[in-house]
Amino acid sequence: MTLLFDPQPPVLAPTSDGRFFPVRRIFCIGRNYEEHAREMGDKADPEAPFFFTKWAETVVGDGATIAYPQGTSNFHYEAELVVAIHRPGRNIPRERALDHVWGYAAGLDMTRRDLQSEARAKQRPWDAGKNVEQSSPLGLIHPASALGDATKGALTLTVNGVERQRGDLSQMITPVDRLIAFLSGLYRLEAGDLIYTGTPAGVGAVVPGDVIVVAVQGLTSLTITVGQHDQ
Ligand code: MN
Repeated sequence: MTLLFDPQPPVLAPTSDGRFFPVRRIFCIGRNYEEHAREMGDKADPEAPFFFTKWAETVVGDGATIAYPQGTSNFHYEAELVVAIHRPGRNIPRERALDHVWGYAAGLDMTRRDLQSEARAKQRPWDAGKNVEQSSPLGLIHPASALGDATKGALTLTVNGVERQRGDLSQMITPVDRLIAFLSGLYRLEAGDLIYTGTPAGVGAVVPGDVIVVAVQGLTSLTITVGQHDQ
């Protein structure tokens, strides 16, 4: 068998025990904190969580400099708790959901807000706003024992040392176990899947040179620098 070209190697996310988590797919939950839903001009609906997806290759690690992406003049941060799935399953009941979680990390769902808002207004898909190269920074993944059931703990974000977001995991409208039950009712969740669980209020724009730090209580913080414009 002759390949036409070399395939992309798997995306490997480091874990706190010195191993690597091979990333398979990324599910991102929208409007999972009431105050953020409101700042986006919407209401959160606990009965109807929704999601979008990103390519695995959008993951970058702690300490990375991400290029300011082309096609936008309003590039936003969203600090999020990320869930790392290691056990496959379909129609996973809420009571068994956490058995499928290997661990948790601090993450960023970087967003071309102007393109997302335009898509929203026209009732079109969000891909251009959300699924962007280097748009899914991910911190060190800690085993689930570091966070327990991930139902409480501070989640904060600073830009250049100034706090811009502060929330608590207890404010999630749909908590982690219900998110897993929900997604696995639509897909067979697979080992390597990541779930970005939504962001608290305070999202905003960054410019080249900005340094973003995401901290989730109990986890290693994530530091990302915004680089020059992608050419
Ligand atoms: Mn998000």
